Amino acid sequence: MNLHEYQGKEILNSFGVEIQRGIVAQTPAEAVEAAKKLTEETGTGWHVIKAQVHAGGRGKGGGVKLAKNLKEVEEIAGDIIGMNLVTPQTSKEGKKVNQVLITEDVYYPGDSEPEEYYMSVLLNRATGKNMIMYSTEGGMDIETVAEETPHLIFNEEVDPSLGLMPFQARRVAFNLGLSGKAFKQMTKFVTALYKAYTESDSSLFEINPVLKTSDDKIIAVDAKVTLDDNALFRHKDYAAMRDIREENPVEVEAREAGLSYVDLDGNVGCMVNGAGLAMATMDLIKQAGGEPANFLDVGGTADAERVETAFNLILKDPSVKAILVNIFGGIVRCDRVAQGIVDAYKNMGNIEVPIIVRLQGTNADKAKELIDNSGLAVESAVQFQEAADKVHAVLS
Ligand code: GDP
Ligand code: MN
Repeated sequence: MNLHEYQGKEILNSFGVEIQRGIVAQTPAEAVEAAKKLTEETGTGWHVIKAQVHAGGRGKGGGVKLAKNLKEVEEIAGDIIGMNLVTPQTSKEGKKVNQVLITEDVYYPGDSEPEEYYMSVLLNRATGKNMIMYSTEGGMDIETVAEETPHLIFNEEVDPSLGLMPFQARRVAFNLGLSGKAFKQMTKFVTALYKAYTESDSSLFEINPVLKTSDDKIIAVDAKVTLDDNALFRHKDYAAMRDIREENPVEVEAREAGLSYVDLDGNVGCMVNGAGLAMATMDLIKQAGGEPANFLDVGGTADAERVETAFNLILKDPSVKAILVNIFGGIVRCDRVAQGIVDAYKNMGNIEVPIIVRLQGTNADKAKELIDNSGLAVESAVQFQEAADKVHAVLS
């Protein structure tokens, strides 16, 4: 689950990471109130208006702007709230901005040398360790840095059972070229950031830029946070931060129905039980000359209701040209699933795309009989290859 910048910063702040202070606003009037409050609290004269959407590169798309007085705060907030923000990380259509973060300006006017660094904490699956990735080249795409100046990106691998050792935090500060007060502040920053990452059960914390001011403060100016969905049950307060306006509506519906669904770009919808079988089915579709339109795991109990929900989800995608149902009857009996498909099909009325059903396992023969005798435009297959050939046939 992804968070907004302001939510990520809230978490950082709660673990003692120094942040650029801000207040969320839904309207221009709220933006002005927020700005006044920030001036009282921080003494800031200027403010930054930042679009809150689940996408990076907002600055490039015009979603981050500096306001030098309250009138500008109001105007800019009015422009950004409700706009369709297009950034290098959104689709061509962009993302609708529902709210903005009003922040203090932490780049002091006249500060000749604000330094911007990049820092993220993530899991390195290859080594089974957490990794702090950091660079002196902050404020721009880390992908560009990786391509053009890879030697300016450093990694610090952290053994999760030991945690971040003090010498490692010092190495980070050293590699960033810091000394004196800034060095000390950076070791504090990294230590608190690592703690925030582990204790919130996140899979990513990315701070770009981390700012060093001319008076040697180290501040998180941005925050991109991805929480581990499987750990949300023990962080009810974070789970409540979910903003479904930012998520794919079909995926939201699937999650509410207890189905595991990921939207993809292809033309063949898949309905499968079990993640491993789902992966194999997607390979099969590719071999048959198609592209999977989705990953969908209906789980162990593929009854009529679940099957119908799953059909509904798949059919919401207009690019679906065929549906492949591939179910292994282990715990669930194939004839029950087949009956579920037939019932769902009848309930739904006019499904226009061809459906190929492969049921294998307990009572597979009975299931095939049921489908073949149903009189519906559903093709049944028992073997994997048979199913692939049928997908190929309907696509060509
Ligand atoms: P992103 O474009 O989505 O990554 O959004 P960021 O939060 O990283 O902001 C984009 C850029 O806005 C930063 O790289 C900074 O250069 C600039 N910016 C952010 N906060 C301030 C601020 O307080 N003052 C000024 N002058 N610029 C800022
Ligand atoms: Mn950023």
